[in-house]
Amino acid sequence: MKLLKLIILLLIIPIFGFGQNPNRCGTIELDLLTERLKRNKQLLSENNGVYSRGGDKYIPIKFHLIAKDDGVGRVSESKVFSQLCALNEFYANNNTGVQFYLSGDFEYHDNSDLYFLPSDDSALVPLKSPTAVNVFIVSSIENVGDISPAGYYSPSDDMLVMLKGQVGASSTTLQHEIGHYFSLPHPFNGWDFSGGWNLADHGNPVGVDSPPNPFFPYETVPNEKQDGSNCNFAGDYICDTPPDYLFYISNCNYTGGVMDPDGVPVDPDETNVMSYFGDNCTNYISPDQIALVNTDFDNRPELHNNFTPMEIADMAPVLLVPENNTNQDASFVAFDWDEVPGATHYFFELSRSPDFTLFPIRRILTTSSTFTGGLLEDRTYYWRVKAFNAYETCLSTTPFYTFTTDVMSGTSTIPSLGKWRVDPNPVAQNEDIQLTLYAKKAFDGEIAIVSIAGQTLRAMPYRFVAGTNTISYATEGLDAGMYLVSIQAENARSNQKFVIAR
Ligand SMILES: [Zn+2]
Repeated sequence: MKLLKLIILLLIIPIFGFGQNPNRCGTIELDLLTERLKRNKQLLSENNGVYSRGGDKYIPIKFHLIAKDDGVGRVSESKVFSQLCALNEFYANNNTGVQFYLSGDFEYHDNSDLYFLPSDDSALVPLKSPTAVNVFIVSSIENVGDISPAGYYSPSDDMLVMLKGQVGASSTTLQHEIGHYFSLPHPFNGWDFSGGWNLADHGNPVGVDSPPNPFFPYETVPNEKQDGSNCNFAGDYICDTPPDYLFYISNCNYTGGVMDPDGVPVDPDETNVMSYFGDNCTNYISPDQIALVNTDFDNRPELHNNFTPMEIADMAPVLLVPENNTNQDASFVAFDWDEVPGATHYFFELSRSPDFTLFPIRRILTTSSTFTGGLLEDRTYYWRVKAFNAYETCLSTTPFYTFTTDVMSGTSTIPSLGKWRVDPNPVAQNEDIQLTLYAKKAFDGEIAIVSIAGQTLRAMPYRFVAGTNTISYATEGLDAGMYLVSIQAENARSNQKFVIAR
């Protein structure tokens, strides 16, 4: 059983460090994939090569962003946006008729046991969405032997797993894994566990069959010939992808001179996305592969839907407040920007560094405004926004705006009153707020809730005691919005903003 699981894990290993021993593939799971491939070929031939659901197909994809137990380490959403953008670009540039869109929100899982994924990945299965392609993004995948997978497709669990380092615009790993998801084998099918062609082990010319699978010693696949004469029954069983005996060079020009069983030098396709050539080479998927992907999709009713992409204006939002290079009250900062037509969501980032990696706050919002409290005093902050919708995640992010928080934030101008704060902020509607204040000595004053327009909405006299004062104050009956708590005493006034959330 353990071997079986190991094989499942190993089935698909895409592009990995080329200095390492090459990957291997599991026969059992390869059989599952081959079975589907052959069914799809059969359906295609019955339909004279026509796949049934014509026109553009929009496929829901669900990204699971996994962090450690403490919520740290998750891949950033902006990487996932770039990844979806690159995925769609690849499948559009190759006229596949296939595009992908976000199926609802990202799923966030905080679980160190998944973040460092063991070879037994069964704990992911219950987290899957039944109506989308599921992509789990983790930090590491347990090595098996000397293989460190960058990602894989599990045919038995029908899900994809990717390392977070592989997520983004510069890698073609997801494009490759999606190929497996829709039944495509590697063009070097049969050589998956071979370590890649080498003269000592495999000879030149190569034999009639692929090397025996070391996990299942009697399993081999006929080696595909350069002239295509056996292409339907050899290699990846796909005729417009030339022979490949697991060549894995990082440049895009194979000149190895390896010969097929007839002694003819093979000319692999270094651009094929299902090969192990470098990310910079693999920008192509063949017409036969495209037909198979579409046919596989046709036979996955759980992914069918009536999704229509929404047009979105090709622009970054215009940032409004806080204006650039201003001072802000650390206890409360409200952010606002112009809506972008067609955007359903905004990705908001706030950070202490302009590269947005230092103490980042990241939010996905359905409104063009947000707010935050509890920032540190006397610090510089940076914020920026990106607009998106389920299908369009390629738009640029705004240039950042910056602001500095005041040193005097939260400090009272009332002589006897020290620092004070309002919690929680924001507060839910009809919940009480709690004021925590420090008084240097006892004094009498008034505590009021005042609208932003300056109108006193309620007020009560209060006798402050020396030391810490903790006061509950009702907000019942007040609408959602921003307000001030205003304390008046000793001929002075001290205000704190707070928000009643919707
Ligand atoms: Zn692969």
